[in-house]
Amino acid sequence: MQRAVYPGSFDPITNGHLDIIKRAAVMYDELVVAVVTNYSKKPTFSTEERIAMIKKSTKGLNNIRVTNFDGLLVDFAAAEKANIIVKGLRAVSDFEYEFQMALMNKKLRKDIETIFIMTNYKYSYLSSSMVKEVASLGGCIKDLVPDSILQDIKNKFKD
Ligand code: ADP
Repeated sequence: MQRAVYPGSFDPITNGHLDIIKRAAVMYDELVVAVVTNYSKKPTFSTEERIAMIKKSTKGLNNIRVTNFDGLLVDFAAAEKANIIVKGLRAVSDFEYEFQMALMNKKLRKDIETIFIMTNYKYSYLSSSMVKEVASLGGCIKDLVPDSILQDIKNKFKD
C-alpha cells in the first residue's frame, strides 16, 4: 500500500490543485490531501471551509482522504504512514523554495521522498491568491476553481 500526502494551504482549492490531485491519485493507492493549519498568513477561509471545499471538489475520487495538520509535514507524513510528499510546480519561481523544502524534509526524515508534478499548462498562472483577488473585485472565477465551490467563494466575497 503506497500512500502519498499532498500538502497545501488550499485557501481555496483551485483547478490547478485539483489537476495535481487527480494525477497523483492514479499514481498512489491513497492520496491524503492535507490542509496546513499553522499557516503564517491568516487564511481567508477557515480550516473547516477549506476541507469542505476540497471534499466537494473531489467527490467521486475514491482514493482521496482530506484532513488537516499542523507542525512538521514530515512528522505528519510519518504518522500517516506515507513515504511520499507530492508537490505541484508552476514556474521557476516555485522551484527555489520547493527545492529548499524538499532538501530540508529529506534531512529531517530520509525515508520520505518529495515528488514534483508539473502544472498543467492551462493552470500555470493560477494561484489561490489570484483567485481571491479576482473574486474580491467582482471578476469571473469560473474555470479557475471547481464549479461545485464557485458559490462558496462568491459568498465569501459578497460583502
Ligand atoms: P499557493 O502556492 O497557491 O498558495 P498552496 O500552498 O495551496 O497554494 O499549494 C499547494 C501545492 O499545490 C503546492 O505544491 C503548489 O506548488 C501547488 N500548486 C498550487 N497551484 C498550482 C497550480 N496552478 N498548478 C500546479 N500546482 C499548483
